[in-house]
Amino acid sequence: MLGKSRIYVAYTGGTIGMRKTAHGYVPESGHLQRLLAEIPRFRDPGVPEFEIVEFEPLLDSSNMTPGHWLQIADQIRSNYANYDAFLVLHGTDTMAFTAAALSFMLEDLAKPVVLTGSQIPLEETRNDAQNNLLTALLLLGRYHDRLPEVMVLFGDKLLRGNRATKVSVTGFDGFDSPNFPPLGRAGIDIEVDWELVLPPRTRELSVVAVGSAQVGAFRIFPGLEPRLLEAVLAPPTQGVVLECFGAGNAPTANLAFMRVLAEATARGVVIVDVTQALRGSANLSLYATGRALLDVGVVGGYDLTAEAALAKLFYLFAKGLSPDQVKRDMQRPLVGELTLPATEFAGTAWTAADRQGRLA
Ligand code: ASP
Repeated sequence: MLGKSRIYVAYTGGTIGMRKTAHGYVPESGHLQRLLAEIPRFRDPGVPEFEIVEFEPLLDSSNMTPGHWLQIADQIRSNYANYDAFLVLHGTDTMAFTAAALSFMLEDLAKPVVLTGSQIPLEETRNDAQNNLLTALLLLGRYHDRLPEVMVLFGDKLLRGNRATKVSVTGFDGFDSPNFPPLGRAGIDIEVDWELVLPPRTRELSVVAVGSAQVGAFRIFPGLEPRLLEAVLAPPTQGVVLECFGAGNAPTANLAFMRVLAEATARGVVIVDVTQALRGSANLSLYATGRALLDVGVVGGYDLTAEAALAKLFYLFAKGLSPDQVKRDMQRPLVGELTLPATEFAGTAWTAADRQGRLA
C-alpha cells in the first residue's frame, strides 16, 4: 500500500489559532496544536499526515511584511523535497497579499501551496476553522500531484491565490476571486475544475527574495490633492498601484494631478492602473479619462486585483528588471493573475485558456 501523503503546515498566526483574552483575540504559541490534539477527526485514516511548524512569533496578519512572505517561501523551499504539499495557516486580513506574493516568488512551483485561516478561532464551539483546515488537508492529500499553484481555500471555495480578495469580515465565505472562476468547490465532494489549473512545471523550484523594492499603492478619490500623490511617487519610489475609478479612469481634468503623474513616469516610476471595482478590468482606451493616463505613461493592469498588482510590482523589481521591463511584465499574465482583453489576442495563436491567464 502506498504511504499517506505528507503535508507541511506553516502556521503563521491569524484568528484560526487565537485564544480569547481580556484584550481580545491573540495568537498564542502551541494553542492551535493543543486544540487539534483533542479532536480525533484530524487523525482519521483518510486525513494525510501533517506537521505543524510555527512562526516565531505568531502574527496577526495585519503585521505581515514582505520579509514574512520570504520566510514562508524559504520554509517551503527548504522542506520541498520532503513533503507532498504545503498548507499555510494565515490571518485573513492580508491573506490575499501573501497568496499573490507567494504565487510570484515561488517560481516553477510544482506542488500545491494552499493558504487558509478562519473567521472564528478553533477554540470556539461554533467555528469555521475546523472545516477549513480539514477541507484543505483532505484536498492536499488527494490532489497533491495535480495542483501546481498557490491557492486560497476558504469556506466552500478553492481560489487561485493571486485572484483572491477578502470580501467579508464576518461571513464564512470570506474570500472570492471576482475576475476568475473558483478552481474548485467543496460541497459533498471536493471538486476541482481541472481546465483552470495551471499547467505542470518541470523546472526546479526557485524563490525570488522580495522585500527591498520601493513600491506602494494609492487609492484615488474625488477632490484628491495632487500633493498627496506626489509624496507617494517621490524618490525612492519605483512603482505604485494606482487604484482608479471604474474602467481605470481618473480626474484627468486636474492638470496638477496629470503633471504629477507625468513627472513620475518620466523619472521611471512604474504606475499601474487597476480598478477600485470588485469585478471588471481597467481598460484605459475606453474613455478619454483613461486614454489621457496612457498618454502620461501610466500602464493598465487589466483585471489584476490591487493585492496582486502590488505583489507583482514587489516581485518584478526584486528580479532587478528595468522600469520598461516591469511595465511590459505587468501587462501580461505570468502565473494566471490577469486576463488579457480579446483585442490583445487578435492575430496570435493564443488560446482562450491563455487569455484566462494560463500562459506559462
Ligand atoms: N486580524 C486577523 C488576522 O488577519 C483576522 C483573521 O485572521 O481573520 O490575523
